[in-house]
Amino acid sequence: MGPVTCRSCGRSYDGTLFREGRVVLCECGEWVERARPEDVRRALGDVADLARRADRITSLVLYSDLPEIDIDIEIEKLREFCRERFPDRTALFEMVYVARWRRMREQGWARSRGDERTCGDDAATA
Ligand SMILES: [Zn+2]
Repeated sequence: MGPVTCRSCGRSYDGTLFREGRVVLCECGEWVERARPEDVRRALGDVADLARRADRITSLVLYSDLPEIDIDIEIEKLREFCRERFPDRTALFEMVYVARWRRMREQGWARSRGDERTCGDDAATA
């Protein structure tokens, strides 16, 4: 087991201190554990990335007047990202995000486009 580095101050601790999931209280006051911080940080970054990109697509679906084909392209890009970073979670991605966007598009688009037309008509009569 290699040394473990404190995330906060960078002090290095002998790997044997972390046997059986033990943690070390660093001199700087930070708890140090062998959680492979690099991996964890990368995984968290990927999750944050996925969430951010999914949010962006949600706003596109809800608020933009991008043609459907462009939104499909955005979804495909994110699907690709998901396949790459979370290969064991692609089914979940389809269930959680893609299915939701499909519903939004089916329900919401008709409504919002209808609303727009109504607004336009009001403006024309006023
Ligand atoms: Zn420290």
